[in-house]
Amino acid sequence: MTHVFHRNPRQTLEFAVRSEGIRLFDRQGRGYIDASGGAAVSCLGHGHPDVIAAVKKQLDEVAYAHSSFFTTQVCEDLADFLAQRAPGDLNHVYFVSGGSEAVEAALKLARQYFVEIGQPSRRHFIARRQSYHGNTLGALAIGGNAWRREPFLPLLVEAHHVSPCYAYRDQQPGETDEQYAQRLADELEAKILELGPQNVAAFVAETVVGATAGVLPPVRTYFQRIREVCDRHGVLLILDEVMSGMGRTGRLFACEEDGIAPDIVTIAKGLGAGYQPIGAMLASSRIYDAIVQGSGFFQHGHTYMGHATACAAALAVQQVIERDDLLQNVLNRGEQLRAALRRELGEHPNVGDIRGRGLFVGVEFVADRADKRALDPKLRTHAVLKKRAMENGLMMYPMGGTIDGVRGDHVLLAPPFICTADDIEEIVARFTETVRGLLPG
Ligand code: PMP
Repeated sequence: MTHVFHRNPRQTLEFAVRSEGIRLFDRQGRGYIDASGGAAVSCLGHGHPDVIAAVKKQLDEVAYAHSSFFTTQVCEDLADFLAQRAPGDLNHVYFVSGGSEAVEAALKLARQYFVEIGQPSRRHFIARRQSYHGNTLGALAIGGNAWRREPFLPLLVEAHHVSPCYAYRDQQPGETDEQYAQRLADELEAKILELGPQNVAAFVAETVVGATAGVLPPVRTYFQRIREVCDRHGVLLILDEVMSGMGRTGRLFACEEDGIAPDIVTIAKGLGAGYQPIGAMLASSRIYDAIVQGSGFFQHGHTYMGHATACAAALAVQQVIERDDLLQNVLNRGEQLRAALRRELGEHPNVGDIRGRGLFVGVEFVADRADKRALDPKLRTHAVLKKRAMENGLMMYPMGGTIDGVRGDHVLLAPPFICTADDIEEIVARFTETVRGLLPG
């Protein structure tokens, strides 16, 4: 009998007792390559001495000081670091403990902004199907994952959904990226007009989709067209980079690649790289100033916001990434990872698509490459792949189930930014062995 309630009782888990570099070790001393960074978290790998030293130093000085009594130097320094590097004028940083908290804060900030500037009718949020924004009630409400939402529907605030940018399944033959992007932006605009622009607060999207559909990078110009639609109707653009931000795609903020800046961005996983729980929301000066000049402060807060030890860990993580030029490695190793997966599995009959950006890579499995039909849900392919990968000493993040009527089996690979070329080859070898062991083709 176990007393731990947060894990699936049908699963038997090994105990992680040691970690080093790109590997975790169990009680028998078996090593597992962390090829998914847990859930795209451990971007620096495990046991990084500089981060450990920074955390120890902070624990010795001030582990925690409540944000209504004190600030700390590491909290201020981390905010400066992020604001100086963020696109646009995302100059104001609000630290929380994780991704869902960051998204909740973003939704409430957008709402309060419109109340402050005298547009209180703006209360609707539009998001996308096949999206995930967190498990707290507000974040769950805007998420587009029917399976996660269904049991809680009576408790969820009303949200509206439009199509995701899912080129593999939705881009029509002969349709260019630009035409596809325009079609999706037109759909968003139609939804805004249907609700009445004066009633819409924000459009929320993951810059690169992660946890629902095996990594979906947007097509070229998608976010430029979306930004134009939002601007035309006074709707805020909130980008959720909880998974895709902080260098995962090879840029500190994933939207830099798309050539736009949102009004609010959320980050979390790679921010503290798992050394401490931390997330953040960055808001533009326009929003911050309206609130300061209005009621004076954002009506929100959590006990652990701006947690000193969490900020110390995150600052050390971000400084190491910059000092060691790891984003260049993310770009190089990401190219290598996708090329090697295509070399080994590109022609496999059950591998429909291999896609991604930087070290954020998804593989979509299908029953038939020709018609992209999904595998039989009863096979639970994604879950079986995960189990077999663990037997092969490889951690990869599975995703599956019926999402908004679309059945899918996906795997997410998000190896640490410190991976060498040899590490990538080993990950691909173990991954290929796992896939071919279950789906011989
Ligand atoms: N947004 C996105 C895009 C995510 O991927 C996640 C977590 N998978 C969340 C929000 C929620 O973050 P957390 O689990 O830290 O609450």
